[in-house]
Amino acid sequence: MNAEIIAVGTELLLGQIVNTNAAFLSQQLATLGIDVYHQVVVGDNPTRLKEVIKIAEQRSDLLILTGGLGPTKDDLTKQVLAEHLNKELVLDSETMANITDYHKKMNRTMTENNRMQALVIEGAMVLKNPNGLAAGMFIKHNEQTYLLFPGPPHELKAMFVQEAKPILLSYADKEDVLMSRVMRFFGIGESRLVTLLDDLIETQTNPTLASYAGVNEVSVRLTANGRTETDCQKLLDDLEGKIQDRVGDYLYGYGEETRLVEVVGELIKKQQLTLTAAESLTGGAFQSMLTTTAGVSEYFEGGVVTYSNRIKEDILGVSKETIEQYGVVSAHCAIEMAQCVKNQFGTDIGVSFTGVAGPAELEGQKSGTVWIGYAFKDTVSYAKCFHFGKGRNSNREQAVLSALDMIRR
Ligand code: ATP
Ligand code: MG
Repeated sequence: MNAEIIAVGTELLLGQIVNTNAAFLSQQLATLGIDVYHQVVVGDNPTRLKEVIKIAEQRSDLLILTGGLGPTKDDLTKQVLAEHLNKELVLDSETMANITDYHKKMNRTMTENNRMQALVIEGAMVLKNPNGLAAGMFIKHNEQTYLLFPGPPHELKAMFVQEAKPILLSYADKEDVLMSRVMRFFGIGESRLVTLLDDLIETQTNPTLASYAGVNEVSVRLTANGRTETDCQKLLDDLEGKIQDRVGDYLYGYGEETRLVEVVGELIKKQQLTLTAAESLTGGAFQSMLTTTAGVSEYFEGGVVTYSNRIKEDILGVSKETIEQYGVVSAHCAIEMAQCVKNQFGTDIGVSFTGVAGPAELEGQKSGTVWIGYAFKDTVSYAKCFHFGKGRNSNREQAVLSALDMIRR
């Protein structure tokens, strides 16, 4: 496979910026064993860009275009390529959601130009942009493969490494079908996960394996190529089996969209169980999280927030002696809270949260010390201690997710 890099931008021709993207891409492609025979720079001009694409198609298998994916008038790379390939531009809902979120967060109004940024060439695999708004694209058309990246180097670099490289790696031997699978893990940090999978990552060829750290979790993407879907599935299953042997305990689900709360909700529903919660430091965040999923009423009717000791004792029914003897930041208190709320609400499962949200210490215990209690019917009750030790809200968020993870197990 040989590649051609086409950098689009009049600033490049005028010498106002240096084409560092081409240097970066050439270095990366060399490590993948892909030869770069041509680098081209062209201005923001549709006619000349189309000419350059046509020439490149005659001599290169892989065309990498950088720049011109932004929202302004001179950004025309995807429009020109779409027209040339006789394809439509279609809205990518995930990119659109990112753009909308970004504008909400920054309190800015969206313009029609911003909507343009969510358009991708039909049939393209969308490459996510962790550092910006414009999505990249991976397109197979006839004999050629096209990769499109935005111009800003920090966006292009992250996208190349995280999104494009795994595809190119498994592409090198030119099979027909490309499939990927995303495995989602909770309760293990990225560095530990990567250490445990080190040799699999080091020796990867097909399927390839890449890890991504998310908020409070880690994902691993496996990408395989083969002659048929069955071949790909088999390759993915084999590698997944090896990963499961090592870190399967932490695996909670598959796919980019899956959320831990949904996985746990489905599990409870399937077993036709009901659940309630008594929350101290989380102040209802756990119950609020449950209610973000549709169909939650099948297993959740309600629960309580028991913030003060008085409410824990007088309303929930935790014994005064327990609190006096062990304190509220204790396994005893967590277990009693879980049992009391389960019995009072008449459910199968009771979950409880008690601990130190921080920043101040409580009962001589550090910020981030959290006991989560779990009571199941009249058969099982236990509590688990966590030391999150980050900021107040992060402690509370992690407590909620850790409780979900406890229920899942
Ligand atoms: P934006 O959304 O920022 O407009 P874009 O995909 O439209 O991104 P351009 O408008 O072509 O990209 O370029 C944006 C900026 O990215 C340029 O001003 C320059 O700083 C940088 N850039 C673009 N192309 C290159 C390149 N080939 N090498 C290095 N930097 C580049
Ligand atoms: Mg631009």
